[in-house]
Amino acid sequence: MKENIKSMLPGEIEKVVKDLGQPAFRAKQIFKWLHSGVKSFDEMTNIPKALKEEFDSRYYITYPTVSRKLVSQIDGTVKYLWRLRDGNAIESVIMQYEHGNTICISSQVGCRMGCAFCASTLGGKVRDLEASEIVDQVIFGEKDSGLKISNIVLMGIGEPLDNFDNVMRFLQLINDKDGMNIGMRHISLSTCGLVEKIDKLADYNLQLTLSISLHAPDDKTRAKIMPVNKSWGVDTLLEHCYRYFKKTGRRISFEYAMIDGVNDTPYHANLLAEKLSKMEGHVNLIPLNHVDESPLEPSKPENMKKFIAILKRHNINVTVRRKLGSDINASCGQLRRESGLN
Ligand code: SAH
Repeated sequence: MKENIKSMLPGEIEKVVKDLGQPAFRAKQIFKWLHSGVKSFDEMTNIPKALKEEFDSRYYITYPTVSRKLVSQIDGTVKYLWRLRDGNAIESVIMQYEHGNTICISSQVGCRMGCAFCASTLGGKVRDLEASEIVDQVIFGEKDSGLKISNIVLMGIGEPLDNFDNVMRFLQLINDKDGMNIGMRHISLSTCGLVEKIDKLADYNLQLTLSISLHAPDDKTRAKIMPVNKSWGVDTLLEHCYRYFKKTGRRISFEYAMIDGVNDTPYHANLLAEKLSKMEGHVNLIPLNHVDESPLEPSKPENMKKFIAILKRHNINVTVRRKLGSDINASCGQLRRESGLN
């Protein structure tokens, strides 16, 4: 059974190289080739043939193929449906902002969190992505689109903290100066709130931005739309967020999808403001995006305005997420693992 070389850290490749009696610098060369997007060892032109053959007999190199590519006519957003090595499919989206291009990437094939408003969870989770498969979305997204990627958001299909070890490995790989070299401050990780994993992440003390999909300030509302709330209620989640903030010094971003008649009343706004008052956090409102299978509707503009006014009155930092790629179903919560569902 061959192993996945592109999920290996530079030090791990170096150990293999040394065990083969080769100089350490070969590891760095191989790592660079892998993260520049080569699809075979054969393409590594500065590596001796015998060493390439030895590696080829032990390892495989992951790369996705473009199963479908859609470009938004409105704002140039690009959505990829990638086919993986085993035939599974995932999506990534590249968004062009004034401050640079951001790629939204998937962490799992499907998702098992079951949020009522999200298309990614329909059909459940098939498997975790390997670290290299998460990296590949950035490497090949940049390559295919010709758009230099400066920011990454782990906000595509899947729950990143439900694939903790591979996501941590991804972060190390993508951050490496011989790889894509993307700084932690240019990476956001979004979670529906797996509190034990939030604690674990805090211990790594990374400079990334943690986003929490909160979507409601009280258990009754949140449990209705997010099954994860049955394991950990809002107050427990917020306690762990506070601990995260204290430990890392990094302000948390709270995502809040505005759903008509569900979580968008003045009651919800006031309670949200109260609960976030000691957090120094930031609220990112997302007008609900349409998902065919769901009866939920976006909030009415006037209700959204009222909601924002209440938060502002309580000095809560609030922004509204810009909707990009709406003509190609590339907005939050619209990514799917199968093309047939689109
Ligand atoms: N599983 C992670 C990563 C997904 S990030 C998480 O839950 O955070 C995608 C963001 O879009 C999350 O905040 C998610 O709750 C939100 N979202 C999902 N479906 C949506 C929809 N239909 N409209 C707007 N936002 C949605």
